[in-house]
Parts: sequence; structure tokens; C-alpha cells
Amino acid sequence: MSRPRIPAVVLGATGTVGQRIVQRLVGHPWFELAAVAASEASAGRRYAEACRWMLPGAPPHDVASRIVDRLDPETIDCGGPAIAFSALPADIAREVEPRFAEAGYAVCSNASAYREAPDVPLVIPEVNPEHLELLDVQRTTRGWDGLLVTNPNCSTIGVVLAIVALDRAFGLGAASVTTLQAISGAGYPGVPSLDILGNAVPWIPNEEEKIETETRLLLGRVEDGLRIPSDATISAQVNRVPVVDGHLVCLSLGFDRAPDPADATAVLRGFRGGETVRGLPSAPSVPLRVTDAIDRPQPRLDAAEGDGMAVSVGRIRSCPILDLRMVGLVHNTIRGAAGAAVLNAELLVAEGRVG
Ligand code: NAP
Repeated sequence: MSRPRIPAVVLGATGTVGQRIVQRLVGHPWFELAAVAASEASAGRRYAEACRWMLPGAPPHDVASRIVDRLDPETIDCGGPAIAFSALPADIAREVEPRFAEAGYAVCSNASAYREAPDVPLVIPEVNPEHLELLDVQRTTRGWDGLLVTNPNCSTIGVVLAIVALDRAFGLGAASVTTLQAISGAGYPGVPSLDILGNAVPWIPNEEEKIETETRLLLGRVEDGLRIPSDATISAQVNRVPVVDGHLVCLSLGFDRAPDPADATAVLRGFRGGETVRGLPSAPSVPLRVTDAIDRPQPRLDAAEGDGMAVSVGRIRSCPILDLRMVGLVHNTIRGAAGAAVLNAELLVAEGRVG
């Protein structure tokens, strides 16, 4: 695609996810990082000073000296219609994101604030790109020039990419999900070190509810402008573990037509997104990697698969309680957050809704 690059602002650019978005926008073929914005405490400071950079190396050279903007669409100058990537805490996003959409921005959000709103698409491009049709409802109900699209919670993305092909082939009836989630999922400074080193914490606020609700929305459909969730029963139990990046999801699955593990493995190996998503710059060539190794996937070894955009699954075997068991792995700040938002923005461009 040869066209001028679309300007982009990152809201919450100094945080764990915001830094990943900044990293993924540098050199992006379609988008140009025009501004970085964060809290009042960071506004007015140089980006490199305002943010405690947590990724390998320093902040990208051409971003380090940028002055951090306030979260105000009136004072940010992107030089024309732009994309706003939001990596804000949910309570701040609830107030800030609509202001950017009203100002004409296409807001691609990581926050949970609007994921369950009936007129806001919750999208994984390989899974439910057709849910973008909710934007037509949104424009009518909200009356704004911009738009607001969300990506799911970091664990939910791993769960749904791991099971969607099986749902389509065999009809998912029930899923029991147990997560082992990395500490980067809690943002910075996140979980106190004395709580997590040599330990595991079997609770993450609101996480189980998000996994259960968002999974059903993503596997569901949109009909006449209404979201109809999947009627599969989803049960989630979550744990924070002392891993830096990469959420493991242990899955037990029940189906309308129980597959044997070999058939399920073949279906998973064949999973690809639709034609539109396959051509997007951030789309991995294979969104779901299936491993036969008995002790994989592992966060340290496998989270970076496909530039962090591929979900891995392994240990596919029968389940004596439901039908099938397996283990999935998602890089929580890339496929589970920053890369998910950038991929959603690319989908909006490819579908002619932005640019
Ligand atoms: P984080 O590291 O705590 O970063 C939060 C960002 O928001 C920072 O840029 C911070 O700016 C800004 N911010 C914080 N309080 C603010 C306030 N009162 N007013 C304005 N700006 C404020 O959090 P994160 O982990 O990146 O998460 C960001 C969002 O993505 C959250 O909604 C989270 O649930 C979601 N998410 C995170 C992950 C993950 O794996 N971490 C995955 C999926 C979704 P300052 O630096 O100036 O304070």
C-alpha cells in the first residue's frame, strides 16, 4: 500500500503497554508516531525522562526527545485526522477516549472501559473482523466524527486465538480456563516484589470476569447491529506468577462433537485469519503455532514467536472430565495488548474505515 503515513498519538505512552506501542510504531509502514501523551505528572517532560523505559535498550532515538503531551485532543497537534492508541488505566480511559473520538480520532483502545459497550467493537482481526460493523451503530448513537474500537484483555486474546478454530469445527460447549499470568500484565510498578518472588497469587482483580465475558462476545456474532454472545459456558481461574512476559492458559474444553486429539491438532494447525488480515503489516504469517514438544509452550522460550504476535498451543490431549486439554501461551504486552491495538488499526485502514 503506498499512501502517506497516518499520524498516530499514543495515550499512556509512558506505561508498560504504551512503550510497546511506541516501539511498534517506529518504522511502521502505515502509521507515523506524531505525539506521545501521558498523565499531568509526565506532561511537558522529555519522553525519555518521563518514562521508565522497560524494554531492551533505550527509547527509540527519535522519540526520546519528544515532549510528552497532556491527554487533551485540543492541544495535541497531529496535523490532521489521526489514530489514538490508548494504553490508559480503565478509569482514565472511560473519560479520555470519548473526547478523542469526538475530536475525530480513530481510537484503538487496550483498556477495558468500553469493551462491553453494545456499540463498541471488541475485535481480534483473525477472529471477528465483521464485528467492525458495530461502528455504523456507534456513529449514529454517539454522533461523533471519530470512532472507538477495543482489543480484548491480554489473557482473553490467548484463549480465543487458541480455541476459535475448534469452536467453528466442533462447536464449543464449555471451557475451563486456568491462567498463569506474567507480572508485566499488572503494569508498572505492578505487583510488589515481596508478594510475587518465589510465590504465586491466585487473584487478579476483575480478570476472571473479563475472560468469561469477552470470550463469549468474541466467539459470538453481530446481527442487526446487536451483539449476540456465544452460549458456551466459560469458567476462568487466574494466577499471577513470577514470569516477566507471557501468560500461559491451561484449557479443558467440551464440544458438541468431541474431536480426537489428532483431528483437533489438524484443525489448529490449519487456522489462519481471513484474507484481509493476512496482508496486514503486523499480522504473523501463522497466528497459532502448534508445538508437539511435551514441555512446551513456555513463556521464556516461546512468547516471542511471530514477533510476539503468534499464540502458541501444545500438550493437546484427551480430557477425562471434558473432551480435550491443551496449553496456550500469549505474549501479554504484544499480542495481548500493544500489537493487538496496532493490528486493529491496520484492519480499520484495510477496511477503508480510517485513512
Ligand atoms: P501502566 O504501566 O501503569 O501505564 C499506565 C499509563 O497511563 C502511563 O502512561 C501513565 O502515565 C498513564 N496514567 C496513569 N494514571 C494516569 C492518570 N491518573 N491520568 C492520566 N494518565 C495516567 O499500565 P499498563 O500495564 O501499560 O496498562 C495500560 C492499559 O492497558 C490498562 O487499561 C490495562 O488494563 C491494559 N492492558 C494491559 C496489559 C498488560 O499486559 N500490561 C495487557 C492488556 C491490556 P504516567 O507515566 O505519566 O503516570
